[in-house]
Amino acid sequence: MRLLIMGPPGVGKGTMAKHINNVYHIPHISTGELYREAITKMTPIGKLAKDFLDRGELVPDDITVNLVKRTLKNENYQKGFLLDGFPRTIPQAQALDDILKQNNWKIDMVLNLLADDELLIERISGRRTCKKCGELYHIINKKPKIRNICDQCGGILFQRPDDNRETVAHRLKVYQEQTQSLLEYYHQRHLLRNINGAGTIEENIAEVEKILGGFNDND
Ligand code: ADP
Ligand code: ZN
Repeated sequence: MRLLIMGPPGVGKGTMAKHINNVYHIPHISTGELYREAITKMTPIGKLAKDFLDRGELVPDDITVNLVKRTLKNENYQKGFLLDGFPRTIPQAQALDDILKQNNWKIDMVLNLLADDELLIERISGRRTCKKCGELYHIINKKPKIRNICDQCGGILFQRPDDNRETVAHRLKVYQEQTQSLLEYYHQRHLLRNINGAGTIEENIAEVEKILGGFNDND
């Protein structure tokens, strides 16, 4: 299955993508995570991207498209993938269409998670990530058993540098200005499935299961 997962920052794309990966074994590609890894390793792409991530701006399309093109050549992704955080602009969506065409692939579904800005800001400012394995936590909604320590691997939890209030507000604005028009793009192609992302993690997962379960029956 080839899926896209869309929605504003903090809506739960990463959590949902990890869940889908665990249950359906569809490998997860997050462009945000690819950039953060590249920045940590100080690769050439990381150096190019760092300022954009720090400011909550989008990395220019040509850099992002090349990154995704290169990633999708990896043999792990030949049978299916779940793309999270890409595409984020119309040119990126067009570039993805070209990649799909070249490989004789198609997108089966675009999962679109929705929630209000206020909730998103609260979620993101409380979000913590494991440095070692990437597991996500929240200081109120999904506390680790031991403060600041990952339940899964014992790694230390940290706050993403772009998860502060000011940068979050900017990321939401960028989402509204640049990414929201993509919803129409995929709606016209009858691929868009809206999902309420405002509930608890369990409720949101149940919504996604309904949609993906239904998909399997019709496949
Ligand atoms: P979120 O959806 O929570 O904002 P991501 O981890 O998806 O977080 O993205 C973090 C940052 O990585 C973005 O603010 C942007 O700077 C960069 N980025 C990720 N994906 C893209 C993309 N498709 N195009 C341009 N920049 C991107
Ligand atoms: Zn961990």
